[in-house]
Amino acid sequence: AKNLGKNNVQFFQEEMRQGILRKITIEKSLRKALNTSGFELHYQPQISIDTGKVRAFEALLRWRDPELGNVSPLEFIPIAEDTGLIVPLGEWVLREACRQGVEWNGSGCEDLIISVNISTVQLKQANFVHMVKDILQETGFLPAHLELEITESLLINSFEQAVPMLKGLRDMGIKISMDDFGTGYSSLNYLRRLPLNTLKIDKSFIQDINVRGMGENIVSSIISLVHRLQIEVVAEGVETEAQLDYLVRCNCDNVQGYLLSRPGPAENVAGIIQKNYGD
Ligand code: C2E
Ligand code: CA
Ligand code: CA
Ligand code: CA
Repeated sequence: AKNLGKNNVQFFQEEMRQGILRKITIEKSLRKALNTSGFELHYQPQISIDTGKVRAFEALLRWRDPELGNVSPLEFIPIAEDTGLIVPLGEWVLREACRQGVEWNGSGCEDLIISVNISTVQLKQANFVHMVKDILQETGFLPAHLELEITESLLINSFEQAVPMLKGLRDMGIKISMDDFGTGYSSLNYLRRLPLNTLKIDKSFIQDINVRGMGENIVSSIISLVHRLQIEVVAEGVETEAQLDYLVRCNCDNVQGYLLSRPGPAENVAGIIQKNYGD
C-alpha cells in the first residue's frame, strides 16, 4: 500500500508537470499570436422568438496556432487572464467586433447588436470605459449596437465598484448582459441593483429541460422573475426542439444554440443576415 501511495504521488507530480508545461507553451504562443494577428472571431446568432429574426450576434474568439492547432477558448482564456494577456487580446476582440458590426449594420440591416464577451480582468482595468469609448469613436460603431457580456465573477469582492462603472457604460448607450446566469454568485438583490438589459440563462439549465424534473421549473421561474425586472432573456445552448418548445411556452425572448446555428466565420454569417433583412 505504501508503494502504491508513492506511485500515485509520482503520477500526480508528472501530471502537474505536464499541465504546467502546456500552460507555458500556450502563454508563449498566445504572445506570438497577438503580434501576428493569429486570432479570428466567429459569430453565433441570438434569435428573437417574437420576430424570428436575428437580435444579435455573439462574437466568439477562435485561435488556431501553427503548432498547437485549434485551442479552445475554454483552455486559453483562463491562461490569458492569469497572465494579463486578456487585456490586449480583449481589446483586439472589441475592435474587430465593432469593425464587423459597422460593416453589417451598413449593409442594409439596421439595429443589429454585436455581443462581446468581456473578462472580469478587463473590467477591473482603470481605463476600461475609456478604451471602449475610444474604440467606438475609432470604428464609428453605435454604442446602442454594442452589448457587453459580463459574468457574475465580477460581482465577487467588487460589486460596489462595478455598479457605477456599468452605469457609466449604460449611460453611453451600451447594453449590458449577464452571461452564464445561475452558475456562480447569483443574488437576486444584486440582480435588482445592476443596470442590466439582458440576462443569459446558462446552458446547463437549458440542457436540464425534459431531462430532470426540476430543470424546467427553474428556467420558467428565472424567466418570469427577470421579466418583472424588465430585463430581456436569452436562453443559451438550445440544442433540441423540445427545449425550444418549452422556452417559447415560457415566454423566453431570445434563443441561441446549435439547434438554430453554430458559431461561424463572418462570411458564413453574412448569409444569415441576408435571409433576415433581404426581403
Ligand atoms: P460563453 O460566453 O458562455 O459562450 C458560449 C459557448 O457555448 C461557446 O463556446 C459556444 O460555441 C458554445 N455553444 C453555443 N451553442 C451551443 C449549444 O447549443 N450547445 C453547447 N454545448 N455549446 C454551445 P466557445 O466558443 O468554446 O467559448 C467558450 C467560452 O470561452 C465562452 O463561453 C466564453 O466564456 C469564453 N470566450 C469566448 N470568446 C471570448 C472572448 O472574446 N473574450 C472572453 N473574455 N471570453 C471568451
Ligand atoms: Ca457569452
Ligand atoms: Ca454563456
Ligand atoms: Ca461561459
